[in-house]
Amino acid sequence: MNFLTDDYQDIRDGVKALCAQFPAEYHRTVDEEKAYPETFVDALTKEGWMAALIPEEYGGAGLGLIEASVIMEEINRAGGNSGACHGQMYNMNTLVRHGSEEQRQKFLPKIAAGELRLQSMGVTEPTTGTDTTKIKTTAVKKDGRYVINGQKVWISRVQHSDYMILLARTTPLAEVKKKSEGLSIFLVDIKEAMKSGMTVQPIPNMVNHETNELFFDNLEIPEENLIGEEGKGFKYILTGLNAERALIAAECIGDGYWFTDKVTAYVSDRQVFGRPIGMNQGVQFPIAEAFIEVEAANLMRYKACALYDAGQPCGAEANMAKYLAAKASWEAANACIQFHGGFGFANEYDVERKFRETRLYQVAPISTNLILSYVAEHILGMPRSF
Ligand SMILES: Cc1cc2nc3c(=O)[nH]c(=O)nc-3n(C[C@H](O)[C@H](O)[C@H](O)COP(=O)(O)OP(=O)(O)OC[C@H]3O[C@@H](n4cnc5c(N)ncnc54)[C@H](O)[C@@H]3O)c2cc1C
Repeated sequence: MNFLTDDYQDIRDGVKALCAQFPAEYHRTVDEEKAYPETFVDALTKEGWMAALIPEEYGGAGLGLIEASVIMEEINRAGGNSGACHGQMYNMNTLVRHGSEEQRQKFLPKIAAGELRLQSMGVTEPTTGTDTTKIKTTAVKKDGRYVINGQKVWISRVQHSDYMILLARTTPLAEVKKKSEGLSIFLVDIKEAMKSGMTVQPIPNMVNHETNELFFDNLEIPEENLIGEEGKGFKYILTGLNAERALIAAECIGDGYWFTDKVTAYVSDRQVFGRPIGMNQGVQFPIAEAFIEVEAANLMRYKACALYDAGQPCGAEANMAKYLAAKASWEAANACIQFHGGFGFANEYDVERKFRETRLYQVAPISTNLILSYVAEHILGMPRSF
C-alpha cells in the first residue's frame, strides 16, 4: 500500500478553486449570523464533491476515503468548516457497504444528483454518552414497521438533511450475549418523522454547528428502512465512525495548516521592539512544533484512509489519526491566537472562529480520553476499565 506517491493535486486544485469563490468574509458572516453555509454546500454538491464516495454506477465519482479526506482537508485549509457537510461523506459508506441493492438504487443516485441529503447520524444519547452500547432508544417491530421511542442529543445537520442514519436497540441488553449485539441502524426520512413522532430541539452552542436534541415518541418507520441485518447495527455504525474519524483527522490537518500559514505570515510582518516578532525563537518554536505535529498526523491519516479503502481493519489507525491531528491542530490554534496578540480575538482575523471550530475535535466525535483508552486496552492489551 503506497499512499505517499500521490499528492491528489487535481482534487486539491478543484476544491481550492471552488473555495476561492467563498472567501473568509463569507464564512465569517455565516458564523456571525449563526447561519448554515447553504450556498457553499450547494456549490460543493453541484460540482460533485459531496458525491465523491458514491460508486460511479449510482452517479457518483467512485473515489475512496483518501480522496474524500483531501476534499475535507482543503475546505478547512481554505478557511471553511467541513463540519457543515462532512456527515454525508461518512454516512455514505455505511449505506454503500451495508445497504441493500434496493436501498442503494433508491437513495444513491438522488444523493449524487443533489436531490437528497444524507447528512445526519443519530448515535449519542443524553443519559449514556460515550457508553454507546447502553443506548436506551428502542426500535420494536410491529406490523411491517419499526416503532421508535427514546431520545438523542447532539445530532447534527438534522435541519439541513433529508435522511438520518439512526442507531436504536432492537433486542434488550439483558437478552444479548455481547452488549454490542441487538443494535440496529435505520434510514429515517426526517421531514416525515417530524410530522409523526420525532421532535427536534436545536442546541445553541459555541461553534456555528447546527446540532439538536431529538425526541422519539412512537415514531413509525417502514421495515425496509432497516440497513443490513437486524441486530448488527453496532458493527455497521463502526464503519461510518472509522470513516468519520479519518475524515475529521483530515479536517484538523487542514485547520493545522491554516493556523500555521496564518500565524507565519503575521509574525513575519508584525513589528514590535523594532523588528518582526517572528525573529524571536520564543515565537518561532511553538509554531514550528505545531507544524511538525501536523505533518506527522498527516501520515497517520493517509495510513488510516488507505487501510479503509483496502477494506482492511483500520480502527486503531483511524483513532490514532484523529487523536494526533486534533492535538496538532489545537496546538497550532493556540500558537496562532497567542502570536496574533489582541488581534487573535478580533472576528475580522478569523483566528478566534477557527480556534473555536478546531477545539470541538478534542471532544467530538470521540473524546481524546476514549481514544487513549481504546489504544491502551485494544491495541496494547491492558485490562479493560469499562
Ligand atoms: C457540536 C457537536 C456535534 C455533535 N454531533 C453529533 C452527531 O451528529 N451525532 C452523534 O451521534 N453525536 C454527536 N455529537 C456527540 C459527540 O459524539 C459526544 O459529545 C462525544 O462522543 C462525547 O460524548 P458525551 O458528550 O456524552 O460525553 P461523556 O460520555 O459524558 O464524556 C464526557 C467526558 O468525560 C471523559 N470520559 C468519559 N468516559 C471516560 C472514561 N471511561 N475514561 C476517561 N475519560 C472518560 C471524556 O473526556 C469525555 O470528553 C456531537 C457533539 C458536539 C459537541
